[in-house]
Amino acid sequence: MEQHPAYPRLFEPLDLGFTTLPNRVLMGSMHTGLEEEKGGMEKMARFYAERAAGEAGLIVTGGISPNFEGVVAWGGSRMSSRRHAKRHKPITDAVHAEGGRIAMQILHAGRYAYTPLCVAPSALQSPISRFKPRALTSRGVERTILAFVRSALLAREAGYDGVEIMGSEGYLINQFVVADTNLRTDKWGGDFERRCRFPEEILARIREAVGPDFMIMYRLSMLDLVAGGSNWEEVQRLAQIAESAGANLINTGIGWHEARIPTIATMVPRGGFRFVTKKLMGSVNVPLITTNRFNDPATCEQALAEGCADMVSMARPFLADPYLVKKARLSRSEDINTCIGCNQACLDHVFKQKVASCLVNPRACHESEFGASVRPEPQQDGNARGGQSGHQLQGKRVAVVGGGPAGMSAALERARLGASVVLFESQAELGGQFLMAQKIPGKTEFQETIRYFKTQLEHLGVDIRLSTQADSDLVAEFDEVVLATGVRPRALDVPGADRPEVVSYVDVLQGRVEVGRRVAIVGAGGIGFDVADFLTHDSDDAGFLSSWGVDSHLSSRGGLGEPQRKSSLREVVMYQRQSGKMGKGLGKTTGWIHRTTLKQRGVKQMTGVSYSHIDDQGFHVVLEDGTMHVHAVDHVVVCAGQLPHRPTDLTHPNAVVVGGARDARGLDAQRAILDGMVKS
Ligand code: NAP
Ligand code: SF4
Repeated sequence: MEQHPAYPRLFEPLDLGFTTLPNRVLMGSMHTGLEEEKGGMEKMARFYAERAAGEAGLIVTGGISPNFEGVVAWGGSRMSSRRHAKRHKPITDAVHAEGGRIAMQILHAGRYAYTPLCVAPSALQSPISRFKPRALTSRGVERTILAFVRSALLAREAGYDGVEIMGSEGYLINQFVVADTNLRTDKWGGDFERRCRFPEEILARIREAVGPDFMIMYRLSMLDLVAGGSNWEEVQRLAQIAESAGANLINTGIGWHEARIPTIATMVPRGGFRFVTKKLMGSVNVPLITTNRFNDPATCEQALAEGCADMVSMARPFLADPYLVKKARLSRSEDINTCIGCNQACLDHVFKQKVASCLVNPRACHESEFGASVRPEPQQDGNARGGQSGHQLQGKRVAVVGGGPAGMSAALERARLGASVVLFESQAELGGQFLMAQKIPGKTEFQETIRYFKTQLEHLGVDIRLSTQADSDLVAEFDEVVLATGVRPRALDVPGADRPEVVSYVDVLQGRVEVGRRVAIVGAGGIGFDVADFLTHDSDDAGFLSSWGVDSHLSSRGGLGEPQRKSSLREVVMYQRQSGKMGKGLGKTTGWIHRTTLKQRGVKQMTGVSYSHIDDQGFHVVLEDGTMHVHAVDHVVVCAGQLPHRPTDLTHPNAVVVGGARDARGLDAQRAILDGMVKS
């Protein structure tokens, strides 16, 4: 077989004995929220089928509980009866029709279950749950093992090609394995070998029940990142136990949910935990899968070339682009819509019990609401061409004014639907607010989104006119005008706000001011936090792993070390008028990371204040207790939100306003990109 010129290892088939996977890319397990939706199975069938058509080597579903007690939250999906198996059949049929393979993940949440019925090896409440679990009786443990076995058999009946047993992220199996969460004195507790009996029995009995030709993958917690977690010898030993008990593949798990170290957020370097899987290579004979923050084929290929693993798992990147593997195979990697690791529309939605989507690809999990994605084919341009014939936009002349996320999205969508599009941008480059976002430490991924849009717009022949200020005359000849003129930063309205040391975040992020050592930041929304990060990141010189206290030698229990982070050389104080905790509006799954980072860097936060004035002495602020505080500063950086920007000399009888120009309140990239799209 011919080698792929750029990704020879990624496209090398993986022989599992009874079956061969076509490539080394696993679409990892991800809860989408469709599992619990009305008509969710059909939507999931469409969602997974598109990823199978995109050539994922193997797909793993979101976690499905083997019984009632193990669901992550009320109404969570289960595979415990033939009725359940029948409901899953459309999924496996749809994936197989596209030539794909799919395994079902069996996940028992244990003490992480967000219900009062939760169970665990011992009655020890987790720090991230409201509910104290009931300790399973010995018979309860037996019943749970049988539930796993029944679930695997039902998964096979539903047409799945295998199962993944979720043994990581701090769920039930992890709780049995780790001494701190398993205080049992019966045969399921005690020394390490006894604590491992639970996963061992699950795997061995499933293997016995399903026979040799059914894939069993074990998700092994290789780095717990919690105090008292497994040490490396135990990880290695459990991998060997899993192999002997019948696992065909071992997948990597990094960090329990209660760990306070980022494991998948955008500041984690690409493939930043691959060293963990690499350390296990050679300890077992079954293929190992590495994971966490892989989002492009080049990093996956590099990990395989470095001998870090036999296969690479990506989950969120398949939300961002269902066709990412196929695009890599067709040597069209520049057409990949890259996951930027923001969590904003995927995990943050799921944690709010909403259906997941993707900031850079709002079609994800909402495939039926938008026109179908166009499959990339060798003779086509990227994933772009192939607009829907007969659409009302076909043949229309459309002007899009503004080349930020909303404008780029609107131009791309209209060109896809057959319009002839001209995109006007007043700056010398496309990107709008993303050009600033990519300057924030750990947010360089935003440049990938700009690259994706630019490439697709070029493929579709969108006429891009940079450094061009559009006005009514310029757009008069068009059938439709999309106003995506964005936002302007809100100015601070206090005496002295016109002094030279008062600057906007735009001045700071665009490098127009040399910011001094003593800084006041006015406003503590997403941008206030980003600017504080930008101004203090000098304290992270130690690199990601060391600054967060990950023991890269894996010599300590749970892989935890001392965070090597020092206070910033800059003295930064953030101010907000609202009382209470800062950063309430930050992402559900990432807000804590921003708060922890700034705290460790010594950034101070003052809430419930009101602003008085700025003079030669500094920034005068009335504190919550009514006292006046004078903050001697070199700069006051204003991050006080935005206002819509709507040029008065730009009108058209058929104008549509999108993004921040329409409404700046609560605007983020997710809404901007979605605003540009056209629902079918
Ligand atoms: P924002 O989240 O609305 O925050 C604006 C801040 O300015 C608030 O802290 C507000 O606090 C303050 N403010 C409002 N009016 C003011 C006034 N007249 N004078 C002084 N202060 C005032 O807006 P943003 O920070 O510009 O962010 C824009 C959008 O991008 C948001 O939706 C945000 O979520 C998103 N974003 C998110 C992230 C992230 O999650 N990491 C990063 C960047 C941007 P008080 O009114 O209490 O003073
Ligand atoms: Fe990736 Fe963000 Fe999309 Fe989630 S929302 S899949 S993290 S780009």
